[in-house]
Amino acid sequence: MQSRSNIPFSEIGSIRAGGPVAELIEVYSAKELIDAALNTWNEKTDWLILGDGTNTLISDSGFDGTVIRTIDRDAAQLSQIKQELSETKDSDSPVNVEVWGGVNWDAFVQTTVDAGFADLAPLSGIPGTVGAAPIQNIAAYGGEIANSVTSISFLDYESGEEIRLFPKDLEFAYRSSALQKRLGAVISVNFALNQRTITSNFEQILERLQTPDSAKLTPAQLRDTVLELRSEKGMVLSATDPDSVSLGSFFKNPIVSHGFATGIAGGPKWPEEDRVKLSAAWLIDNAGIHKGFSLPGSDAAISSKHTLAITNRGNATAEQILELANFIQLRVSAEWGINLDPEPILIGFDT
Ligand SMILES: Cc1cc2nc3c(=O)[nH]c(=O)nc-3n(C[C@H](O)[C@H](O)[C@H](O)COP(=O)(O)OP(=O)(O)OC[C@H]3O[C@@H](n4cnc5c(N)ncnc54)[C@H](O)[C@@H]3O)c2cc1C
Repeated sequence: MQSRSNIPFSEIGSIRAGGPVAELIEVYSAKELIDAALNTWNEKTDWLILGDGTNTLISDSGFDGTVIRTIDRDAAQLSQIKQELSETKDSDSPVNVEVWGGVNWDAFVQTTVDAGFADLAPLSGIPGTVGAAPIQNIAAYGGEIANSVTSISFLDYESGEEIRLFPKDLEFAYRSSALQKRLGAVISVNFALNQRTITSNFEQILERLQTPDSAKLTPAQLRDTVLELRSEKGMVLSATDPDSVSLGSFFKNPIVSHGFATGIAGGPKWPEEDRVKLSAAWLIDNAGIHKGFSLPGSDAAISSKHTLAITNRGNATAEQILELANFIQLRVSAEWGINLDPEPILIGFDT
């Protein structure tokens, strides 16, 4: 565990903007996370549990409290999981695996794919930690973490107790879970892995593989295809890709009634229970805001590869990022009558 004061959030989060964090405690194991959280909660100061900060933006005025950041420094648990999974290679039985919250999400996915499991392959390349992944039910390319989580070990702020939460408690839905409203820390996540091959019906995967119907893929084939598609959209963190200096998709795809969706002429529409999900990227583009757009004098710009990502072109402030986001919301609202909901967690802004 290591504690430091006055650390700019711009040195932590993936969009490289935001003001100072009064106290930053880095924790390197599940036990350290529990100890640091209980100590901090006792002090009654403002607090925040953070992973890699790839879905969080803190305002330029900073966070006057304690941020506990999970980091999997030695990847020891991952090596152990690798070993355990390799021993199951010749078996068809499902495997259960528990992963502490600080483990890098994609390193874990890679480990499962290398061991021949396809369950998490659609979620390849999503940045961040295992502990943050269930919070907004990360999803991509036809997969979502909700399909594989069997339970979560959660340190509950109200009681100070470590409790186990099951899918019925977690209420997973599109980019949401009950964890978004429950104060505490995700200590570890339990997964069930059981798919040795995977059939993808996801349109962009089929297009890439030039397969008309569904495609039966090995875990590695799916992972490679997903990583390729994600890189082309700036959706894999890369030191050489300025379009990845972002928080991923800045807005959720809006979910509207069938009647409302019928009134929107054009654009992708996906069924979502008894409603319809629209493409936020299409709505933005067709409100006249295109890839690469930025406001005058601002270093925040729409990605040159994806209309839904706001990027920092160098020295963008958190305020400039929010100004661009607000501008997009106003234009989409004026054009389509839809209020776009931001996906990242915004801290310290008057929104
Ligand atoms: C280039 C790029 C592409 C992306 N693509 C996708 C995508 O395809 N699909 C998708 O769903 N998301 C995507 N994202 C968003 C992001 O990667 C995910 O939301 C990810 O799960 C965030 O992980 P993190 O560790 O960075 O979370 P952080 O930003 O550190 O935290 C996010 C939230 O979780 C809370 N939190 C974090 N860890 C814990 C914990 N242990 N206990 C309790 N609360 C915690 C934080 O307080 C905060 O509210 C993308 C982001 C980027 C930058």
